[in-house]
Amino acid sequence: MTNPYAKRIMVTGGAGFVGSFLCERLLESGADVLCVDNFFTGTRSNIVHLMGNPQFELLRHDVTFPLYVEVDEIYNLACPASPVHYQFDPVQTTKTSVHGAINVLGLAKRTRAKILQASTSEVYGDPAVHPQTEDYWGNVNTIGPRSCYDEGKRCAETLFFDYYRQHKVKIKIARIFNTYGPRMHPDDGRVVSNFIMQALRGEAITIYGDGQQTRSFCYVSDLIDGLIRLMATPDEVTGPINIGNPGEFTIKELAETILELTGSKSELIFKPLPQDDPKQRQPDITRAQQILGWEPTIKLREGLTKSIPYFKSLVG
Ligand code: NAD
Ligand code: UDP
Ligand code: UDP
Repeated sequence: MTNPYAKRIMVTGGAGFVGSFLCERLLESGADVLCVDNFFTGTRSNIVHLMGNPQFELLRHDVTFPLYVEVDEIYNLACPASPVHYQFDPVQTTKTSVHGAINVLGLAKRTRAKILQASTSEVYGDPAVHPQTEDYWGNVNTIGPRSCYDEGKRCAETLFFDYYRQHKVKIKIARIFNTYGPRMHPDDGRVVSNFIMQALRGEAITIYGDGQQTRSFCYVSDLIDGLIRLMATPDEVTGPINIGNPGEFTIKELAETILELTGSKSELIFKPLPQDDPKQRQPDITRAQQILGWEPTIKLREGLTKSIPYFKSLVG
């Protein structure tokens, strides 16, 4: 028997990298979980271990179309997250962020559900302020190859705040910084997955530019903790709140750490820097510390060590 009083939680993008861990954690908390995904970048293998759970339900659906279900909470994660995937069909990427947000916000308005948006550090663009605080408005190109993602996510934040002010929808916005871990798509072109796969296969490690650009990498379980804490805040807490690990590394440092941890002899090669690639990125997490009592617990080396066996299992 499932619990008739269980909280009903919808996770859009639930078959993706982050979404699948979130579904898992919500089920562990006793909730009924409805995973909504169109399988653009997500896979059944990410959630196959949850399929036997009677409190888990999977719906193949594209969030750019309306959806009528009854839920208490919504985590809106549907959106390809890696540059390779979001630039594959940029119009669909913007539609997913914008039409998708309108549909899930309409659903939240009708059902009075709380709704959390997976926003991104990309709303800060190539930032002129370092580290990035939530009140920085960003430095984003409106017409470049990354704009479908960045501007789609910015517009989604606008929609969330307009539904909050106009319709009193209970919103929460998390600005997620680079996150990594098992179940990342091995071919998503992101730096952690690329470097680990290249190191394990003995292929050259492709550093774009001079490798002096920086990122701050958060292990997936820390992110999930932050998202769940944000959803549990009182209604007046809307965010945006940065969720990320402030440990900042150059891309070259990341490459060297991965070589060391995998024991690989791969060489480092340098390739052109993609257009609009942010030069530095580091979250200021003061708000998350004060409002959520949250900070990441897993350092880069530890998180990479936890991730490498997953990538090894793919290499065979
Ligand atoms: P992912 O690509 O693994 O997951 C996204 C999921 O959304 C996939 O399962 C995909 O199939 C699904 N999806 C895409 N378009 C859809 C649509 N139109 N309808 C229904 N489902 C759709 O990426 P992820 O890393 O798990 O990211 C999850 C969320 O977190 C995304 O919204 C992303 O923008 C955000 N985020 C992630 C990171 C990160 O570093 N991983 C950083 C910032 C923000
Ligand atoms: N919507 C949805 N599920 C719902 C309620 C609304 O998908 O349970 C969609 C609806 O199709 C609409 C969008 O969400 O296109 C926005 O809804 P809202 O009520 O804000 O706008 P309206 O229907 O008045 O245009
Ligand atoms: N990057 C790299 N080699 C790769 C993939 C990415 O040097 O094989 C760089 C990329 O140019 C960027 C950083 O690593 O400076 C992070 O890239 P990713 O696509 O993971 O995330 P984002 O740019 O969205 O933060």
